[in-house]
Amino acid sequence: MASITYDHVTKRFGEVVAVNDLNLFVEDKEFLVLVGPSGCGKSTALRLLAGLEEATEGIIKIGDRVVNDVPPKDRDIAMVFQSYALYPHMNVRQNLAFGLETRRVPKAQIEETIKRVANMLQISELLDRRPAQLSGGQRQRVAMGRALARDPAIFLFDEPLSNLDAKLRVEMRTEIKLLHQRIKTTIVYVTHDQIEAMTLADRIAIMKDGFIHQFDIPQQVYDNPANLFVAGFIGSPSMNFIPCRIVQTEGRQGVIWETGNGRSFFLPVERQGLVLDHWLGREVILGIRPEQIASGFHEQEGNPQMHEIESVVKVLEPTGPDTLVFVDINGREVTCRVNPNAIKQPGEPMKLMVDMSKALLFDPQTEERIGK
Ligand code: ATP
Repeated sequence: MASITYDHVTKRFGEVVAVNDLNLFVEDKEFLVLVGPSGCGKSTALRLLAGLEEATEGIIKIGDRVVNDVPPKDRDIAMVFQSYALYPHMNVRQNLAFGLETRRVPKAQIEETIKRVANMLQISELLDRRPAQLSGGQRQRVAMGRALARDPAIFLFDEPLSNLDAKLRVEMRTEIKLLHQRIKTTIVYVTHDQIEAMTLADRIAIMKDGFIHQFDIPQQVYDNPANLFVAGFIGSPSMNFIPCRIVQTEGRQGVIWETGNGRSFFLPVERQGLVLDHWLGREVILGIRPEQIASGFHEQEGNPQMHEIESVVKVLEPTGPDTLVFVDINGREVTCRVNPNAIKQPGEPMKLMVDMSKALLFDPQTEERIGK
């Protein structure tokens, strides 16, 4: 069984606390993604598990075994790096075989393993080529093949797709997901790319400054981010954050969005279970994702959760299926994702409908989501 436990794990490099009191339990066969901005400590967390760094405090377990003092080679893990780390003077077959030969695996078994892995990753035609004769994607496949050949209890991936171009990255992402479905081995995958995290993970751990800010399934992280950092980090383009005040008018609770020029919008907040009584009169930050703001020109009429506001279009960014529209709402820039048929040109006014059913509120002091 290859579950993973980080129990109050801290790693210090002198004054720097790279990983701060990390507590995580990864289930056997789970695909965990550690995601966060540069320097957040995600690679250090992975290297601690691999045995390439030693924990300053805390316990790390693989299954039921404490591995703090177990050398890397005895941890039954295989790691795939961003840099591939293939041997340039060996061909693909030799690269795949190398780790097995050093462990004195019988020749026939090595042959068998190479065949199986090469088939799985569709690199059978490349076995006689050297790394220099391969494309980036093919090299990445060989690096994965080398890890697979070892048949480890846990795979560790450290930004494995960062060196690939955008199209190949998406293809390899799907391959890694398929691979996990097939081999059903525990995976810990480090990336700074939130789309990679959302698409690959069974569960995501979002890190910043050595701390885990949220650990949950992707949809939950997206719909119910724990705080402003997670809300802003997950989702592209980012969630809109608008300073507002909580009020009650005619029996409805909601936010007043003051937009300068003495104008204001009242937007009711009626999320189930969200009680705002003790927030009345106080400042909050309203969080709305771009896709929750539609052009007012179609659908949505009569939906009690949709509320109209006026804007002026600043910039259009067509993506194909929809267009990102950066609008000005009395001095505040807001991003919305709009049907291409419903857009206006820069400089023109545009009516927008805000869907308040998924709106979030954050405490400006603690930055935590209100009503967690
Ligand atoms: P990136 O995405 O840029 O690789 P990361 O989230 O993986 O970043 P880490 O590499 O884990 O971050 O680094 C976390 C912190 O620890 C950083 O402040 C980094 O400078 C520091 N750090 C990492 N390794 C060492 C080291 N060997 N000596 C000193 N400080 C280190």
